Amino acid sequence: MITLALSKGRIFEETLPLLKAAGIEVLEDPEKSRKLILTTNQPDVRVLVVRATDVPTYVQYGGADLGITGRDTLLEHGSEGLYQPLDLQIARCRISVAVRSDFDYPSAVKKGSRLTVATKYVAISRDFFAAKGVHVDLIKLYGSMELAPLVGMADAIVDLVSTGNTLKANHLVEVEHIMDISSRLVVNQAALKLKQAPIRKIIDAFASAIGK
Ligand code: AMP
Repeated sequence: MITLALSKGRIFEETLPLLKAAGIEVLEDPEKSRKLILTTNQPDVRVLVVRATDVPTYVQYGGADLGITGRDTLLEHGSEGLYQPLDLQIARCRISVAVRSDFDYPSAVKKGSRLTVATKYVAISRDFFAAKGVHVDLIKLYGSMELAPLVGMADAIVDLVSTGNTLKANHLVEVEHIMDISSRLVVNQAALKLKQAPIRKIIDAFASAIGK
């Protein structure tokens, strides 16, 4: 049995064509079903539906042989013991610093002010501001980061940005582009040895589907 861990939403949707290229079709829609283990047209391939931040953990501990997760998640939650053969170039976005449109970020940085930053990405933010020599107090949030500057809880946020519509709708502006993000295929190292042929087949099919 080959088990692939995926999160619902954009990653799941953008993985379907890659799975199809590997001859795998998921038989249930995770948006409609409450099932957490989805069957496929291949009796020996199944898909686990897990939270995005849990994908590396499932693969690390062998709950899944393979997983697909964002670079943001791998950097934030670690990727110890995971083989990362492919950047799948899906669920692309960027991780950025954003502030209220009336907050003068360049002059706050220039003056050496201490900034309060709300984010789900504490490790990425800490590294980014440390490299810039900006002192920050980080506030850990689990979602809706955009609210924090609006209610005066933070000067800035660090969040994923795709179209920029969410920032715009909340009167926030992007002031730093920290890095580009896309999703990676991660593989359990022991599974790669024990189930080499079927896993290699999937990696190769994904690679040729994305033109690599
Ligand atoms: P947008 O309005 O298109 O800029 O999207 C921003 C919102 O979608 C933010 O709340 C982000 O956290 C979320 N988001 C954007 N891209 C991704 C992605 N690739 N994976 C997960 N969440 C994302």
